[in-house]
Amino acid sequence: MEEPLRATTISCDLHLTTLTKQTVFYEPDFEILTSDGLRIPVHAAILGSASPVLENIIEGPHKHRRSEKVIPILGVPSGAVSSFVGFLYTSRCTEEQIEKYGIHLLALSHVYLVSQLKQRCTKGLSGRLTIENVVDVLQLARLCDAPDLSLKCMKFIASRFKAVEKTEGWKFMQDHDPWLELQILQFMDEAELRRKRSRRHREEQSLYLQLSEAMECLEHICTEGCTSVGPYDMEPTKCRGPCSKFGTCQGLQLLIRHFGTCKRRASGGCLRCKRMWQLLRLHSLMCDQSDSCRVPLCRQLKLRAQVEKKSDDTRWRLLVRKVVSARTISSLSLHKRKRMEESQRTMSDHGMRNFKL
Ligand SMILES: [Zn+2]
Ligand SMILES: [Zn+2]
Ligand SMILES: [Zn+2]
Repeated sequence: MEEPLRATTISCDLHLTTLTKQTVFYEPDFEILTSDGLRIPVHAAILGSASPVLENIIEGPHKHRRSEKVIPILGVPSGAVSSFVGFLYTSRCTEEQIEKYGIHLLALSHVYLVSQLKQRCTKGLSGRLTIENVVDVLQLARLCDAPDLSLKCMKFIASRFKAVEKTEGWKFMQDHDPWLELQILQFMDEAELRRKRSRRHREEQSLYLQLSEAMECLEHICTEGCTSVGPYDMEPTKCRGPCSKFGTCQGLQLLIRHFGTCKRRASGGCLRCKRMWQLLRLHSLMCDQSDSCRVPLCRQLKLRAQVEKKSDDTRWRLLVRKVVSARTISSLSLHKRKRMEESQRTMSDHGMRNFKL
C-alpha cells in the first residue's frame, strides 16, 4: 500500500526524531500553500507534533475532507515558509535563513507557537540589529511578545539615538505609533537616570572609602607614628620609610601639624582645623577601644556624644555606617579596592580631600 516517498522541498533526512522516522516513509498527507502559490507537501503528524496551533488546524472539523487538506500560510515570502516547515521537521535552521527571513520566522514561530524557533530567532535578530532595522524589529518583538528582544532594541536605540531618529523606520513609527515613541523616550530617560545614580553611588563609595582609609591612618599615626608625626611619648621615626597608605598619611600628618599650631582654630573659622575636628569626631564614633585608644580627644568626644543629643547625631551615625560598610566591602574584595584606589588617586589632591559633612 505504501507509495515511495515523494521529493519535497523540505530536507527531512537530517536529525529526524523517532516520530519523523516512522512517518516520513508515508506519503505526505497535507499541503502548505504560500502567498505566491507554492505548495509544500507535508506530513500532518510531524507538523502537529511540532506546533499545537497546526495540530488544531489539522485536527479541526474539516479533518476528513480531502479538499481541505491545505494549510495556507500567507503574507510572508515562500522562502520563509519553506524555512519554517524545514524547522518543524528538523528543529534546525541555518544562519543564512535567519539572516534572510529572521523577522518572518519570528512572526511564524509566534503565531504557530514554536517556542524553540522563537528563541532561535530572538537570539539571531538580537545579534543582527542595525540602525536601519532596529525600529521595525522592536515593533515586531512587541507584537510577538519577545521581551528580551524588545529590551535589546530599546538599549540599541538609546545608545545610537541620533542616528536612529533619522531613519525612515523611526519617522514611520512616530506617525503611526506615538505611544511607542513615548515609551522609548521614557526608557532612555530612565536609563540616563540609572547611569547617573550609579555614577553618584560610585563617587560616594569612593568618598567613604577615603574616609575609612583616613580613619585607619589616623589610628596608625597616633599609635605607632608615621614619618613626621607620632604619639606624644614616642619620637616619630624619621628613618621609617613611607607606609603602604602614605598618600593619605602624608596629608593627614600635615593636617595634624597644622591643627597643633593654628591660631585661628575651627572656632575661628579655619577650614583645615574644622576638617580635623570632623575626622576626630568620626574616629570617636567608630572607635571601639575604651581607654587604650591613643587618638587625641577620642575619649572626650565619646563622652560628649553621650551627654549631648545633637540634632545632627543621626547624620553622623549614618556616615559611620556608610564608612564602615565601605570598609567591609573593600576588604571583602581586594580587586575592587585596587580599582577604587586608582580612582582615588585621580581624584585626590595631596592625600587629604575636601570632605563635606
Ligand atoms: Zn603612615
Ligand atoms: Zn587651622
Ligand atoms: Zn579612639
